[in-house]
Amino acid sequence: MHELITIGNLLGSDKNEADLALPREILMWGSDKSDEFRFTELGNWLIENHRPFKDEFAGSHTRRSYRLHSKRSYIKSRMEDLVRLGLIQKHGTAKAEKNRSDIPIYKLTFGGVIVGAILVASKTSQASSTQNSATARAVLLISAYLKLNKVSTFLFLSNFFAKCEQEQRYGDYGFIHLLRVLFSHFTGEFNLRQARIAVMCIPTLYEDLEDIFFQTLNELDEQTRKLLLLQFKMDVEADYSYKYQMDIEIAKEWEIMRFENIQNYSKVTLSGYCQECKLSYPFVMDIFSFIRLPDIFAVEHGIDPDTQQIEESTAVVQKIDCFRCGKKNCLVIIPNWYTVTKYIQ
Ligand SMILES: [Zn+2]
Repeated sequence: MHELITIGNLLGSDKNEADLALPREILMWGSDKSDEFRFTELGNWLIENHRPFKDEFAGSHTRRSYRLHSKRSYIKSRMEDLVRLGLIQKHGTAKAEKNRSDIPIYKLTFGGVIVGAILVASKTSQASSTQNSATARAVLLISAYLKLNKVSTFLFLSNFFAKCEQEQRYGDYGFIHLLRVLFSHFTGEFNLRQARIAVMCIPTLYEDLEDIFFQTLNELDEQTRKLLLLQFKMDVEADYSYKYQMDIEIAKEWEIMRFENIQNYSKVTLSGYCQECKLSYPFVMDIFSFIRLPDIFAVEHGIDPDTQQIEESTAVVQKIDCFRCGKKNCLVIIPNWYTVTKYIQ
């Protein structure tokens, strides 16, 4: 048995690149094709295009049908992975030409087409115009897919991506990175909360998308906007762990303050330690100001803006002005919210 893969592996920069190459190529091929296919059709394409197969059969006189036969179970097992992840589906059967037996027909699911399109956009060895149109295609597909679900997070993201497409804001690797991170949460292993936290990070992690982020938020219909902000609030407050993060002395005070502000979707109840007052205390903050804080969503791995490489981040603390003594930059907000970690390893 080979190791089971996840969508996060496929979209991340994983260590076992070699194991992931074949399933990635299947998705890219299928996404461009956007049509149903038989195993033989895919298999023959892989024999001619998958680098390790090409190398293995270079200069060999093995017949093409035997080449495919010898790789059949390997390719099938990778296809089964993709079926299990909900990226490929069996789409009925057809009669084989030779012996009239039933052979399965496959098709990429909507999620599979999107993951394939993101992978195509992620290819670095292509002209920037090709990359731009590949990214635009992925963005339009994602926007259409997210619209199918009426949850506030998806409505927001669908509008956000539609706006990015309209304004053609997808010219750099950072944007493709954003697609990869976000979509790691969307199909197969469906983790709405992780997705929302990734969404909250957009303004600080991708600075040139900050204006589109807040425009989209402000232009949502009032109900969706309220529901989304309330979800953000719940996610932020739920990440407080008394034991490790918050001064135990003020936990009850924080709980009372949270209770009193629970219906106020535009505020978050936090706690912090003032280095001047030498004191911990809970406080309430406007949710927009919170999302705009530059260092609140610490990431363990992020894109280095200079090298464009994924690097390990150093631990950061977020300081703001103290509400009690009024001094600048001395109230340390506790804790940081760690995000997008396991998807980019
Ligand atoms: Zn103070």
